[in-house]
Amino acid sequence: MAVGVEEVVKELRSTYTSGKTKTLEWRASQLKAIIRIATHHENEIVEALRSDLKKPELESFVHEICAVLSACKLALKELHRWMKPQKVKTSMTTFPASGEIVPEPLGVVLVISTWNYPFLLSLEPVIGAIAAGNVVVLKPSEVAPATSSVLSKLLGEYMDTTAVKVIEGAVPETTALLEQKWDKIFYTGSGKVGRIILAAAAKHLTPVVLELGGKCPVVVDANINLKVAARRIISGKWGCNSGQTCVSPDYVITTKEYASKLVDVLSAELENFYGKDPLQSKDLSSIINAHHFDRVTKLLDDEKVSGKIVFGGQQDKTNLKIAPTIILDVPDDSLIMNEEIFGPLLPIVTVNKIKESFDVINAKGKPLAAYLFTNDQKLKAEFIGSVSAGGITINDVALHFAEAGLPFGGVGESGMGAYHGKFSFDTFSHKKAVLQRGFGGDVAARYPPYAPWKLQF
Ligand code: NAD
Repeated sequence: MAVGVEEVVKELRSTYTSGKTKTLEWRASQLKAIIRIATHHENEIVEALRSDLKKPELESFVHEICAVLSACKLALKELHRWMKPQKVKTSMTTFPASGEIVPEPLGVVLVISTWNYPFLLSLEPVIGAIAAGNVVVLKPSEVAPATSSVLSKLLGEYMDTTAVKVIEGAVPETTALLEQKWDKIFYTGSGKVGRIILAAAAKHLTPVVLELGGKCPVVVDANINLKVAARRIISGKWGCNSGQTCVSPDYVITTKEYASKLVDVLSAELENFYGKDPLQSKDLSSIINAHHFDRVTKLLDDEKVSGKIVFGGQQDKTNLKIAPTIILDVPDDSLIMNEEIFGPLLPIVTVNKIKESFDVINAKGKPLAAYLFTNDQKLKAEFIGSVSAGGITINDVALHFAEAGLPFGGVGESGMGAYHGKFSFDTFSHKKAVLQRGFGGDVAARYPPYAPWKLQF
């Protein structure tokens, strides 16, 4: 395997050196190929996602296929603008001169992807890499094998395989890939593996983007439209892959007074959406595999948590399903409050005053996303000013992810670097500083022999 990888990188580097991937035409042709993949093979992709995650068709279509299409279409439309050098004002120090920032591709890049949105989170970074004129290896996640295989097959059929390659595999294959010299590594996954990536990249001084996870909090203030808030929380938690989403609400913080009202409305809406027996609902994804099923249910077995379930709790290991579950008043030292849940459990933490929620959040690692439901303008401003997170959505959850004008990425424990829209192009480009001068305006003072009068300049 290791030898194969070396050859792949060699071939890609030679393609890159040929210069063909730098042209607008090549980049556009590859983006169009991805559009054809997503449109002509919709059923195959939906089936693969169903096989990996029992993902409902609507979620597959909206969260994966449409999201890939819109990222691709935006890149196609804007590419000529993104590629243009950007003029900058020059100063007296260099006068007369002109300055510009020229975006150039980085070269040979590696994208290592994860399993929860295995189509989108594989292709969106690839779209950025291609738009910026790079050659790329995609390593999809072995944990979603059907989607990994569809990606390998379709990219092989539709794309320029001298410049875009898919290497399937697990730890040994990824380890072999990480031994190579890359010009950028874009990794999505856990912080544990993120550290392995960063260490491997350091050997070659390779820049990295780490798209990691964390515990995304939702603060719920009183005096809001609680029904709308509850529906939005449910949609971002259980309606996104049964909570197996990096920006899903991980836990809720509300006041002691308001908690029971919130639980009542969340419970009623959950029953509306998924029925009295949610384990039978076709609108709820399953847990990806038995390992993750055991990991999530272990959080419920913790004695600090088990007596506090106020909704749900049902499990079906054969079908890898866990019902939407709400746990009220979990202690801060419970397992569930100290690990990313990445599943359909929602603990609710209570505080005396809503502002105390800021301390609860800031005492943990910086989350990938943080949410606040309130009508209080002052509280909104204070939340934005004092909660550090990769991104924030106010009065909804997860939707900042879908806004191409906003950079998507983490901070601190939740990662480094960002992408989406133009930020994807920038992430895979080097911004080359170019200063151009003529031969006029040569100032004698800069040259030796230095003399005191020259300092007066
Ligand atoms: P993971 O880190 O186990 O796997 C991700 C990738 O790393 C896979 O391709 C896998 O093959 C590879 N990998 C696994 N072990 C490796 C090792 N020892 N050496 C080298 N490569 C290895 O992560 P996961 O369980 O797939 O993902 C869950 C995490 O990802 C959660 O924390 C979640 O929040 C985060 N996530 C983040 C985003 C984001 O956009 N920020 C999106 C989805 C998931």
